[in-house]
Amino acid sequence: MVKCPKCGKKIDQLLWQESVALQGVIEAYFDEETGSWGRLLREYKEVPQSETSAYSCPKCKAVLFSKPKQALEFLKGADQKTA
Ligand SMILES: [Zn+2]
Repeated sequence: MVKCPKCGKKIDQLLWQESVALQGVIEAYFDEETGSWGRLLREYKEVPQSETSAYSCPKCKAVLFSKPKQALEFLKGADQKTA
């Protein structure tokens, strides 16, 4: 296990959070049954917002890393110390 640099507690995993944006095409359509306009969303997909990635301590919730590689290196350090 490694220690969280913020709270000093032993941790073997991190909380991962990443924001995604939805991106797609919107069209207006007229619904004859209800007599009102609606919106039609199509071709939408999730687009990762890489700059909003956060890897945080599960104990104190402090954000420790923003890059997956950094988080992995930190957790790999856990293996080396317990081996
Ligand atoms: Zn912590």
